[in-house]
Amino acid sequence: FCNMSKNKFDVVVIGSGPGGYVCAIRLAQLGFKTAIIEKYNSLGGTCLNVGCIPSKSLLDSSHHYDDVLKNVMNHGIEINGEIKLNFSKMIERKNSVVNQTVKGIDYLMDKNKISVFYGKASFVDNNSINIDGKEKLKFDKCIIATGSKPISLPFVKLDKERIITSTEALSLKEVPKHLVIIGGGVIGLELGQVYKRLGSEVSVIEYAEKITPFMDQDISKELLKVLKKQKINFFLSHEVYEVERNGDSVNIKAKNKNGDIVNFDSDYCLVSVGRKPYTEGLGLENVNVETEKSGKIIIDNHFKTSAENIYAIGDVVNGPMLAHKAEEEGIAVAEILNGQKPHIDYNLIPNVIYTWPEVSSVGKTEQQLNKEEVNYKVGKFPMRALGRSRASSDLDGFVKIIADKKSDEILGVHIIGARAADLIVEGVTAMEFRASCEDISIMSHPHPTYSEAMKEAALSALDNRPLHI
Ligand code: FAD
Repeated sequence: FCNMSKNKFDVVVIGSGPGGYVCAIRLAQLGFKTAIIEKYNSLGGTCLNVGCIPSKSLLDSSHHYDDVLKNVMNHGIEINGEIKLNFSKMIERKNSVVNQTVKGIDYLMDKNKISVFYGKASFVDNNSINIDGKEKLKFDKCIIATGSKPISLPFVKLDKERIITSTEALSLKEVPKHLVIIGGGVIGLELGQVYKRLGSEVSVIEYAEKITPFMDQDISKELLKVLKKQKINFFLSHEVYEVERNGDSVNIKAKNKNGDIVNFDSDYCLVSVGRKPYTEGLGLENVNVETEKSGKIIIDNHFKTSAENIYAIGDVVNGPMLAHKAEEEGIAVAEILNGQKPHIDYNLIPNVIYTWPEVSSVGKTEQQLNKEEVNYKVGKFPMRALGRSRASSDLDGFVKIIADKKSDEILGVHIIGARAADLIVEGVTAMEFRASCEDISIMSHPHPTYSEAMKEAALSALDNRPLHI
């Protein structure tokens, strides 16, 4: 594949998020002369800079603070003296976690001899691309991995100071007194929990009658119950129709399902109603790459766009907007260019909410199986019945396994509880190998761990014979 010309590449990847940078690494491993172009001056995309990593950093820091305020005394730890929050230090730590992680990507690009270019990429024609309207790269193949950006409501003017998106919410200068969050999805709930723990009053306004509607309904009900117990206010079936800033305050008006007007006075309003594919300024019109009305780039089963040598992956195409989904697609498209036949089973891409308790799921929900008229059985086991949960005082939640009634094959695993994010991998592995509840139930699970709830839920689904309830 080697090419002598400096600015001519076998493959150019646009965007350095988890889709783009992982794709570039796999391409380089396979021997392609690879370049990556990034608009910002740091690699890693949304995920590393303003998404997964900074949000998890603040979730962890705020969890420690909350524990010190509310829980450690129950463990026999006494703190004499004032417990103080140093919010700017918390944000500084988050920034340093991001910087270290970004540096890791610089190292990986270097190690794999991937040429990195900074600036906005724009197609000139089907074999060349401009960077910031200047430098020109030539390519045989191009992968678009330009990701997504937050959307707003048509009547909301985001000023990015008081009326903000998740990006600003990750770098505030002060803890809000009252944070109103429009949208009860994953990002809103995670950031809501951060600020609740740090002392804000938090109100979540959601248009639908439930939060996280894509989750199994048992799980979203339990999550709502737990978050209400943590004193986050929820206003479900409320339609926001006005958001106005007056000085340092933001007034939000919504209508409830009876049509009554409900007023919210806040100092910060986080608009977290979803994200949209980002293709602005890419010059797609110059290469005839077609998009849906929603802005998503249209691809075939092999990630190929309507242009023969241009491919697209990650948030900019269809499917769940998740970092690990983008990564899988990055690997798959590189292998396709190498003549391999990779396969992604989208049913087995897990979903996680990093609130505490955490929430995770893989496979089908009960609601989906009902729609598909599949005969299924359910096994559930509460976390509070585990020795491990009592040892750590993390009692909320349960594991729910859904399996085919006749064959016993596991069709879905849904977890709410401590460390659910890590526990779900057992469900993914089981489903990848098409395991049954019986398979899980005869495997030894270490005691005492939260994973014992998996075995117990499998026993419950198998023939209603859990051991510890
Ligand atoms: P992105 O990460 O968005 O990267 C695209 C890159 O392309 C960007 O760096 C952009 O600057 C660059 N780019 C765009 N246009 C151009 C151009 N013309 N030229 C050059 N470069 C360009 N997902 C999870 O799986 N787990 C989580 O815990 C999680 N938490 C999240 C928390 C928040 C607050 C947010 C906002 C998102 C979170 N996500 C999470 C979603 C996750 O960040 C995205 O799904 C993921 O980053 C998508 O990867 P990507 O490579 O497709 O695009």
